Amino acid sequence: MRLIHAIEDHALTNPGKGAFISNGSQLSYGDLWEQSEKIASYLLKQSLKKASPILVYGHMEPSMLVSFLASVKAGHPYIPIDTSIPMERVVKICESSGAELLINATNQELPAKLPSVRILPFHKLNGHEPIEKAVSADFWVKDDENFYIIYTSGSTGNPKGVQISANNLESFVSWMLRDFPINGQLRFLNQAPFSFDLSVMDLYPALASGGTLHAVTKEMIAKPKVLFEELKRSNIQVWTSTPSFVQMCLMDPSFKEDLLPELSVFLFCGEILPATVSRQLLERFPKAKIFNTYGPTEATVAVTLVEVTPELLDNYPTLPVGKEKSDMRIIIVDENVQEVKDGEKGEIIIVGPSVSKGYLGQPELSKKAFFTYDGEMAYRTGDAGYIENDMLFYKGRLDFQIKLHGYRMELEEIEHHIAKSRYVKAVVIVPFTLNEKIEYLIAAIIPAKHSFEKEFQLTAAIKKELSDALPSYMIPRKFAYYEELPMTANGKVDRKQIGEKVLL
Ligand code: AMP
Repeated sequence: MRLIHAIEDHALTNPGKGAFISNGSQLSYGDLWEQSEKIASYLLKQSLKKASPILVYGHMEPSMLVSFLASVKAGHPYIPIDTSIPMERVVKICESSGAELLINATNQELPAKLPSVRILPFHKLNGHEPIEKAVSADFWVKDDENFYIIYTSGSTGNPKGVQISANNLESFVSWMLRDFPINGQLRFLNQAPFSFDLSVMDLYPALASGGTLHAVTKEMIAKPKVLFEELKRSNIQVWTSTPSFVQMCLMDPSFKEDLLPELSVFLFCGEILPATVSRQLLERFPKAKIFNTYGPTEATVAVTLVEVTPELLDNYPTLPVGKEKSDMRIIIVDENVQEVKDGEKGEIIIVGPSVSKGYLGQPELSKKAFFTYDGEMAYRTGDAGYIENDMLFYKGRLDFQIKLHGYRMELEEIEHHIAKSRYVKAVVIVPFTLNEKIEYLIAAIIPAKHSFEKEFQLTAAIKKELSDALPSYMIPRKFAYYEELPMTANGKVDRKQIGEKVLL
């Protein structure tokens, strides 16, 4: 599969067909192709460093897609930056990625200045004079060259950029279109913002197969009535989201076949898919198939799949994440990186062509997580799991990376930023878990000297500082203050006791 060529084919054979619908505006395949040509040819004249990344800032505007395609046509990977990412974090991404340009795909000015990059407003670029000749395919990103870079939470306090090449992405998209019933110019839901790799699960399978993406924006998601009206209008056939998002939708009894009568496939990834959620979906959407998939951003979205049928639910109270895609291998290893026997628990290692070449500009960090195995790229996931009946089962994390409402984050990154506050002497972050699901985060803090009368004022001041550095989904919901942090008998912070105190 050659992704950009596949998109070109659809633009040539069916230019009027909708590629992306967002907030009532439609971008056709023809427009996607033409506008990205114009911007790619402009980018080629900017004498940028070879293959240097281009930041694309926005939410779910059609101009985001155009900018992605323009970047890769001009030979540059893009870094998607959602508007929910605070500017302090964007500055870090600019600096660590070495990007020279940022395309602002929104209609507004950026909320703050960025010192190291040139800012190109999309509407000015797109208004540029028509181009005389097409951008040669020789410039297009290909093979092992980076196609996109997605930044995820890093335990050192800085986000890390996962490099995904054209080969990585094409291996993933080919698998999606071959092993899932989605290859027929279908209508796809686009719920995850582009800075999360879950969005890649709908974006490129849709574009490569000539389908149409229908976005639901964060403003719509914030208002259930508006969200449901938009879902109704979308009449989508393929649903991709985190289990958390569909669980939220299921709270409304009208989330059933009548709302989306043509919905035929649910794709889930990113966190545990509870059996109860699957059962409800099978009841409310009797014609739809449900797939659980598993994978980290570092191995291009997902590498295993299993169809969740009533039989599977009867056989496994905790669902498996399934079987690996045919060109990949999943290995379970012990602490000495030795393979364990089937059925034994260990760390999940992913091997094969979907595995990234590493974190951009971070050789030390990359060395810890990536290695070669039998001549192929391999990634240490930090996930615990075991293999039984040829299927992988996920058994939690081996470190402090967590998923909260579908968002990936490192507790150490949050601790790092809270510890920098002038109001804080020491901090640990404790996830509060109910029925094996993390409900919210608790910041257990020993405060520094301060002049606030009430704890809630202190909390407000720390939260305000945090909001400059972290996206809102990473800011703990509860703050608990201590003179000393409670310790267990063996001298570790007693996380359980902290959780219990907050509940009181
Ligand atoms: P991300 O890079 O945001 O996709 O997060 C990757 C992590 O999410 C994995 O390393 C797992 O810890 C978790 N994850 C992904 N898919 C699943 C799944 N189907 N079930 C349980 N956890 C999952």
